Order: sequence, then structure tokens, then C-alpha cells
Amino acid sequence: MNESAIILRSARRKRTVALHVQADGTLCVQAPMKTSVAWINRFIASKAAWVARRRARAKEKAARPVPVIEEGSCVPYQGHLWRIRLVEAGDASTSDEDGVILLSLPTGLSDEGRRVEAQTELTLWYKRQARRVFAERVEHWAAPLGLRPARLIVTAPLRQWGSCSATNAIRLNWRLIMAAPELLDYVIVHELCHIPHKHHGRAFWRSVEAAMPDAKALRRTLREWENSGHQHC
Ligand SMILES: [Zn+2]
Repeated sequence: MNESAIILRSARRKRTVALHVQADGTLCVQAPMKTSVAWINRFIASKAAWVARRRARAKEKAARPVPVIEEGSCVPYQGHLWRIRLVEAGDASTSDEDGVILLSLPTGLSDEGRRVEAQTELTLWYKRQARRVFAERVEHWAAPLGLRPARLIVTAPLRQWGSCSATNAIRLNWRLIMAAPELLDYVIVHELCHIPHKHHGRAFWRSVEAAMPDAKALRRTLREWENSGHQHC
């Protein structure tokens, strides 16, 4: 784990200093041009416990084994574990079954080739389900709230589950398809409420909680799920 810190100066940043711990443990400090190094060092020292917690989390994540996708593996989908079935491409005898993910692989691959292909096919499967389910859920919430995004984009932002742009395009991370449906709903409601409120102020949270009274608890559950290594079983 890297214990060093990088300080990035920004002319655009006026007052606040932002800290972020990267996957390799490096501490990234974004600071305004004029802030002194001594002040920044004192600020980092005052956040030592937070930085240590983030580094511990990054270390744990880095040590987690990469899951191997093979026949019978189970993977998360909408909060449940679904079983992987590998079939030969063109095999028409198999049909869709609840709780089972069918991935078709070309014939004649090496073991390593099959593993790579299975992983690729699984990602494509997740993205297909995400596009379908997210559109349904956005529609489910958009009508009663009277908040409709200009566009819905299913994507994979690095550190976010969702975002809402200045032009009201909502982006949702396809990996949310692995989470329980109520966590996906929380992210959708959160982003829809950013259409009228481009901030995390009181008015924003009031509208989130009016739509979804247990939003705060769901937000905590989403953080826990995020840190629990939900990617495999
Ligand atoms: Zn937000």
C-alpha cells in the first residue's frame, strides 16, 4: 500500500481542500493555489484517522481475489445470487430460467480462454439487464415525482453510483444491477431529485425523503454493500 500523498493545485478551487485515497493507497489532496504547504500538512494530520480508515479499506479491496466465472459459480443480481450456466454457442435447447444466467461460449476455447470469455459475456449480460431494469425503474419514479431526466445513460463511472448533469442527463452505474432493488431505487430517486436541486442542501434532502422516507437508511446500506465485496460469493 502506498503511503505517500500528492498535492494538486487548482486555480479554479477557491476555498475548500478535498482529500481522496486512491486504490493503491496514495492520498490525493486537491487544494487552492494559495493554500500554504504547512496549512495543508496540518489539515492532513487532522484527518489522519479518516485517511487510515480509507487506506485499510483500499488494502482489503486489493487483497480480495478476482472471482472466477465458471459453470455453477454464483454471482449477485438484484440482491440475490444467481447461478452461472455455460452453454455452447448456438445451443438452442436451453431456455431462460429464473435464478440462472446462461452464458454462451464459442466452442474450442482453452480453459483460460473460456474464463476470459465467460467474464466478458457476464458483463454484457449485466449491462443488458441494467439498461432494461433501470429504464423501468426510472419510469416508475419519474411519473409520480413529476421529474423526468432529459436522458438516461447506463455507464460505469469510477467512483459514483449515479450522477445528474446540468442538462438533467442521469447517469447510472450498471453495477447497481447487482444490488438489491431498493438500493437501485434509492440512487434513482436521489438523482431525480437533483433535477430541481443541483446540490445536497436541505431542500434536496427534503425532496428525497418526501419521495422515499427511509432514504437515509438506504444510503447507509448502499455504503455497506459497496464495502462488503459484493462482486462474488
Ligand atoms: Zn447527489
